[in-house]
Amino acid sequence: MRLIFTFFIFSLLSGCNSNRESKVTHEKALKYEGPIIDMHIHSAENEEFTIDTLGFCLPITSIIQHFDPKDDYLEIWNNKLHDPECDDPIWSPSSYENFIERLTYQLDKHNITAVTSGPPLAVENMYNRIGDRIIKSCQFRIGRDNITTDSLRILVNKNGFRVLGEISNQYEGIAPSDPRMEPYYAVAEELDIPIAIHLGSGLPGHFYFEPGLTPRLSNPLELEPIIRKFPKLRISIMHYGEPYIDELISMMVNYPQLYADIGGMQVFYPREYFYEYHLKKMVSAGLGKRIMFGTDMIIWPEIIDRAVKVIDEAPFLSMKQKDDIFYNNAARFLRLEEKKK
Ligand SMILES: [Zn+2]
Repeated sequence: MRLIFTFFIFSLLSGCNSNRESKVTHEKALKYEGPIIDMHIHSAENEEFTIDTLGFCLPITSIIQHFDPKDDYLEIWNNKLHDPECDDPIWSPSSYENFIERLTYQLDKHNITAVTSGPPLAVENMYNRIGDRIIKSCQFRIGRDNITTDSLRILVNKNGFRVLGEISNQYEGIAPSDPRMEPYYAVAEELDIPIAIHLGSGLPGHFYFEPGLTPRLSNPLELEPIIRKFPKLRISIMHYGEPYIDELISMMVNYPQLYADIGGMQVFYPREYFYEYHLKKMVSAGLGKRIMFGTDMIIWPEIIDRAVKVIDEAPFLSMKQKDDIFYNNAARFLRLEEKKK
């Protein structure tokens, strides 16, 4: 309200010649109030929660700013999460019940429908608790998830799974074009379900959690062999292959069927860096019709509040661009009914 009031005063003082300019400024100052599709949340299970709650400071890159390899990384990381250094950490719930309650609150508050990735049973459990705000997505990683192509068919045809993702082979250093993935891509293409593939950074110091994570495989150019082999496959680049923005732009321009999901990067990096070198660059390159909102909510439901705010407050986005990023682009990609034009 105060912002709007200030705007009117400013308009009166600045006179008629800036009317058009002011209209744009006013539009950009408005809060987005439409529906949201979050392309990127994760299911959770009972055993992930203990009374021992964990506090995350945002942006995530601020948690560990330097490290001497003579020290024990995991010990430092654990200390940072148990005793966060910022004033406003987001805390994990202490039980599954509390997680569902807080997540439901966030989804309702922001009118979010969320593509929810996880092991099929965990996703089903969340769907049973939360209902239609959940779009079921089957996670996949070679060597971790024992899902055959036959079981994938059943999940899609009988259990209502609509996406194959998060495909997270990058955490094992396995490239998107690994031949072991081809049968899965073929089934996704045949059943006409999109895939969502992790291309991007892990946590700070992720090497110490999962040594297989390979940063160079974040590069969206890695997708080219798949696109050529499976030309009808719909692909969402989760985390938009950050920080390889120029390569992302090259791929999205050359392959206009490619979409990208913001995937929590709006709270991973400091806001100004994310705006200036990632979001603004993607949008100003003309890709605003294929950027989709995503939070990468894992077990911290309140990350959603923060992640929505960063996009909503981007000073260079018009309301039309916010409509697209928050809802329209994902609705088109998922082939949901487009509620807005
Ligand atoms: Zn991811």
